[in-house]
Amino acid sequence: MLTFGDFKSALGGLDLDNRPAIVHVSLKSFGAVQGGAEMVVQALLSSHSGLLVPTFTYKTMVTPEVGPPNNGLTYGSYRDLNRMAEPFYPDMPADPLMGVLPETIRHFPGAKRTAHPILSFVGISLEVALHSQTILNPFAPIGVLADMDGWVLLLGVDYTVNTSIHYAERLAGRPQFVRWALTRDRVVECRGFPGCSDGFEIIRPELEPYARRVALGDSFIEAIPLKGLFQVVETRLKENPLALLCQREDCERCNAMRDLAVGVG
Ligand SMILES: [Zn+2]
Repeated sequence: MLTFGDFKSALGGLDLDNRPAIVHVSLKSFGAVQGGAEMVVQALLSSHSGLLVPTFTYKTMVTPEVGPPNNGLTYGSYRDLNRMAEPFYPDMPADPLMGVLPETIRHFPGAKRTAHPILSFVGISLEVALHSQTILNPFAPIGVLADMDGWVLLLGVDYTVNTSIHYAERLAGRPQFVRWALTRDRVVECRGFPGCSDGFEIIRPELEPYARRVALGDSFIEAIPLKGLFQVVETRLKENPLALLCQREDCERCNAMRDLAVGVG
């Protein structure tokens, strides 16, 4: 069974100098963990000056019958989901797809959450980063974290959940989508919505020179510096605007990205 000491020494082995980090965790991947998600958050807090975690809430999303073209969705096909949508409220739990860590950290002393109705973040000791988020620039906190020489920490998860790659895509000029979210009094238009992340593993070899990795239990912890990540993704997308897209034939967002790249619509 893994203990606080095991996590603490694995994180120490990455030698990240207490820098702030954006964190993605699969607790399950580590097997038995003494103290569960709370212990993992304690270990992270004892190794990093600040923590940032996505607490996205997809169930607020609604889709109109018509809207902008090349938007990576089929208008009119979301009526059932629209009926189940719930208005965002500040205490809305993060989507269960994101694992247990976002909800655990959200309830920690000192944790603060942004108010984006789909793409909110929770942070501890990262007020400036949290305040930078706007409805037009939802991933701005990741940019501030990069300015602070922050890192991405992947605990037992791969690059398909590495949200920071979306920020790098935007920096590289990749088109963004529009989505809509219910709030208590209106529907909010959310620009700057990212593409699909299913193809992100392909960038792994290019990040090797930057990445640090330690084994832990049945799993691993990988760290990538945000500035290095941005540089690698931008270079790759400038060489090939279709890089990092997934290969699923029915992926609406990746197909829209391909159409946009060749100037359709
Ligand atoms: Zn895709």
